[in-house]
Amino acid sequence: MKTVAAVLNETGKPLVLAELEIPALRPGQVLVEIVYSGVCHTQVLECRGRRGEDRWMPHCLGHEGSGVVLETSPGVTKVKTGDRAILSWIKGSGCDVLGTVYQWNGRNVNAGGITTFSRHAVIAENRLTPLRDGVSMEDAALMGCAVPTGLGVVFNTLAPRPGQAVAVFGAGGIGLCAIGAAAISGCTPVIAVDILPEKLELARRMGATMCIDASRTNPVQEIAATCGGGVDYAVEASGRPDVMLQALQAVRSQGGVAAIVGNARYGERLELDPAQLNQGKQLRGTWGGDNIPDRDFPRYVNLLQSGRLNLDPLRSTVYGLSQINQAIDDLEAGKVARPLIDMSKD
Ligand SMILES: [Zn+2]
Repeated sequence: MKTVAAVLNETGKPLVLAELEIPALRPGQVLVEIVYSGVCHTQVLECRGRRGEDRWMPHCLGHEGSGVVLETSPGVTKVKTGDRAILSWIKGSGCDVLGTVYQWNGRNVNAGGITTFSRHAVIAENRLTPLRDGVSMEDAALMGCAVPTGLGVVFNTLAPRPGQAVAVFGAGGIGLCAIGAAAISGCTPVIAVDILPEKLELARRMGATMCIDASRTNPVQEIAATCGGGVDYAVEASGRPDVMLQALQAVRSQGGVAAIVGNARYGERLELDPAQLNQGKQLRGTWGGDNIPDRDFPRYVNLLQSGRLNLDPLRSTVYGLSQINQAIDDLEAGKVARPLIDMSKD
């Protein structure tokens, strides 16, 4: 069986649409018809060659999506043919199977345990979470990375209490979800920081109570003035080291915590004044929101179905597979919060 995938053949160049031959499934693998794929900044970094040397080219990419199970292999018990599923890079229960190799006119094309920039993909069982009825495939696609990372960093990594102050730096897909989670947690104020007014408007729709345009004003000073010295928690979701530093500066001394979610370009360094730490602040990392998909994804679906989590602000243009390079450019330029690729469209 053949499929069409957007393949990274050379960094710094557009992805190439390639007709790939799908190999026979190995034990623990699932053949999925992809319905929607999200596009994440991680793929922007990959495409532009900003993650260091890429030893796997040509390769498939994409790590969040939604799809329908077409075929399962021996050992797979979590899903069956016909099931709808959330596709996520975050490992859950089930078989963990290393990458797949597709064939493209006699060449090997590599793929990891999950890739989603294609009409069909061979995916390891542990990257699938069955999706119950009543959730749209558009929302389900965002459940692969943006939602669990943004919600998880608030619910799992930082776990604020109602009434605590939270600031989120960077109102892209993950930042918007973090803002939604802070609002759901009863935090106040919920402060969004970005340099694009359109993103701040989306942040307000996600539940931000205060928006700071960092291109016009110093967010650290503004936050200090508003919150009596600093916020209890800050989430950094921009991927820029200077903003990571601002997130740490923006939390209160003696107990404030800043969590770094964004991925910086390969080789960039975070330089900080240790006095920030001497003030009793903490700098935290997070593994994509520290989720356990089998435990957490159903909770996120509950929030979605109850209407407490509204993902509409994340959704904008839906692109066809042949427009995927445009989607990547638009994401990088900040024109869209989270592009979705509709695999049924050209
Ligand atoms: Zn991602």
